[in-house]
Amino acid sequence: MSKTKLGLNTICAHVGEIKDEQFKGAVSPIYLSSSYEYLDVDIKRYPRYFNTPNQEYLAKKIAALEHKETAMIFGSGMAAISHMFLAFLKAGDHIVVQNTIYGGTTNFIREEFPKLDIEFTFTNGYSKADFEAAIQPNTKLIHIETPSNPLLTVTDIKAVAKLAKRKKIITSIDNTFASSVNQTPADFGIDLIMHSATKYYGGHSDICAGAVAGSKEHMDKIWNVSKNLGGSLSDFTIWMLERSMKTLGLRVKAQTKNALKMAKWLQKQDFVKHVYYPGLKSHPEYELAKMQMKGFGAMLSFELQDELDAVIFQKKLKLIKASMSLAGVESTVLNPAQTSHSLLTQAQRDALGISDGLIRFSVGIEAVKDLKQDIKQAIKSL
Ligand SMILES: *Cc1c(COP(=O)(O)O)cnc(C)c1O
Repeated sequence: MSKTKLGLNTICAHVGEIKDEQFKGAVSPIYLSSSYEYLDVDIKRYPRYFNTPNQEYLAKKIAALEHKETAMIFGSGMAAISHMFLAFLKAGDHIVVQNTIYGGTTNFIREEFPKLDIEFTFTNGYSKADFEAAIQPNTKLIHIETPSNPLLTVTDIKAVAKLAKRKKIITSIDNTFASSVNQTPADFGIDLIMHSATKYYGGHSDICAGAVAGSKEHMDKIWNVSKNLGGSLSDFTIWMLERSMKTLGLRVKAQTKNALKMAKWLQKQDFVKHVYYPGLKSHPEYELAKMQMKGFGAMLSFELQDELDAVIFQKKLKLIKASMSLAGVESTVLNPAQTSHSLLTQAQRDALGISDGLIRFSVGIEAVKDLKQDIKQAIKSL
């Protein structure tokens, strides 16, 4: 594990810069070549080898942010997850997966793994005992996600990492919701850290990308599979992502601060039944979150009172947009019952605790007073 001593914002602004030797420009040049010299060179570069200059250098920033030796950048978060899983699982192997993970990951496992004879078990809950109970002799990987979507449950990262180490099982985490700013799972022993860079890394709702960070040994394994699957990202988008990541620390810290204020405020409102946010003392894993997170993140969920219509509420918002994705500098909301969990039956949603009135709130950088005002006016006009 390579630990850089640089501060967060210094890493964001500087690590992985490409020096413009020719013209001394202030920012990294974009190298768009899809073909490079191959005679007498140390590295044979090719876009699908994940090693063009822009790919190689931005990966250094991600590795530094995640306290890992090295990293790779992918065409989407799902490309990152699928390439990572397939690097460590083959026919006859087994993976333990936290039950409350990103829907796309669940679909990937359920739809593709049976074709490949890869066995999987979704845990019953997210306690250490739930993970332990799901382990089999052929388990090769344990995958967790914390805080989780949309109810912001918090998994004990250290406990799962320790359990896996004891059984010689590799661990991976989807660190998208917390982002590297609020959580560095490598510090608690997790092997592979994965991000949908479409979210906080990009941060402006205009980039689709993914990333994985890990040890050189593990990342070599992923590279071997990835060059065959081919889910690399264009250098144009890599360059955009580098620009976005310069402000990652600033953005996410501001969003996190706003989220805590909004969560505390929402908790006190008559129109709100319940607020789910790891930074509230009422959250069941508040102490655990405090221990393993540097900030509680900028995602929260709240439940409107039963008589209030969540669909109309979203339409009445003027500043806050109802939007599929999350993590942009602009605040957005989403109703899981209408979107991510719409294919489940009412009974299945009830069992998961996802009510029709549940609103997932991705808190942006706006003035908190304006966000409160927007929510108040929307409620009044219902
Ligand atoms: C969006 C998301 C993904 C998938 O990322 P894409 O970039 O959309 O492929 C994975 N995990 C989490 C937690 C996400 O929010």
